Amino acid sequence: MKLSFDVYDLRPLHTFHVARPGAETKRRTVLVRIESDGMVGWGEAAPINYYGETVETVTAVLPRLASAIEASAEGDVLALDRIERAMERAIGKNAAARAAVSNALHDLAGQRLGVPVWKMWGLDAADAPLSSFTIGIDEPEVMRQKLEEAATYPILKVKLGTDRDEELLRTIRDAAPAKTLRVDANTAWTAKQTLRYLPMLEEYAIELLEQPVAADDLEGLRLIRQHSTIPVVADESCRTAADIPRLVGCVDAVNLKLAKCGGMREAMRLIHAARVHNLGVMLGCMMETTAAIAAAVQLAPTVDWIDVDGAALLAEDPFRGPGLESDGRIRFNTTPGLGLERIDG
Ligand code: MG
Repeated sequence: MKLSFDVYDLRPLHTFHVARPGAETKRRTVLVRIESDGMVGWGEAAPINYYGETVETVTAVLPRLASAIEASAEGDVLALDRIERAMERAIGKNAAARAAVSNALHDLAGQRLGVPVWKMWGLDAADAPLSSFTIGIDEPEVMRQKLEEAATYPILKVKLGTDRDEELLRTIRDAAPAKTLRVDANTAWTAKQTLRYLPMLEEYAIELLEQPVAADDLEGLRLIRQHSTIPVVADESCRTAADIPRLVGCVDAVNLKLAKCGGMREAMRLIHAARVHNLGVMLGCMMETTAAIAAAVQLAPTVDWIDVDGAALLAEDPFRGPGLESDGRIRFNTTPGLGLERIDG
């Protein structure tokens, strides 16, 4: 198996703001290609600065992951469990880098077997819920324009965490009175502030509230959940399956992202762990190309809520493949593996 990669500049349709300062400065991602027996598997590492990953850390560890594959797989792309354990021993952290390699290996495994990955897992595409589409923080005028562009999407995710959250939310609710709305505060609020906002969120019929407070403020999450009729979802507080037990009683659901958890097999473990503890699961993404979204799509039939708009927020996409339709539905691949085709040369 031969691993290679290239750094790709992401150009968003709109400048993207979330509550966390400095979170959205760099817009680069790493595209990973693994070749085996004439087949090509694709993966993508969209580094999450919040967890200490950058394009530089990703490209620094990829050669070590390639060596771990070489040493463990003996050329067998179906030895997924053995390979992923070897990668974890080689690189304990660097979740986005490991996820990229995991996704590419699953792509190859599906191609070897001649089935899409979701079929390889025995899943039914009809079970996938609709996805939301994200409206980032902006001036009211720009937000109204974004809302117009998002007119066909039935579910919107609203990024909050400013000193004018109420105004922003009112703008969106007025412009989209019938749409399902979700709120993500990206850790920007305190528990006290969130309790004060709850009546407003209920008045605007918010479907769910994602990560209102700091990642380590589990007591804050617990308090909010006790007072909220709106389900509370952990995103920044939940990276891998190992985070699930301590979140029990603090949240109603967790937001699973491949770039956070480290790959397809860990994603499945996280879903099982959440179910065992009676927690719901949301499937999320980063700002990333269709290479990463295609991997997330394979998991879509197993979750309760979906937010896989990462590639839909881009001005250009180097891949064609499965992803988000403009009516919020998930487009699955019928071709083997992840169903990707690179189209930028
Ligand atoms: Mg989030």
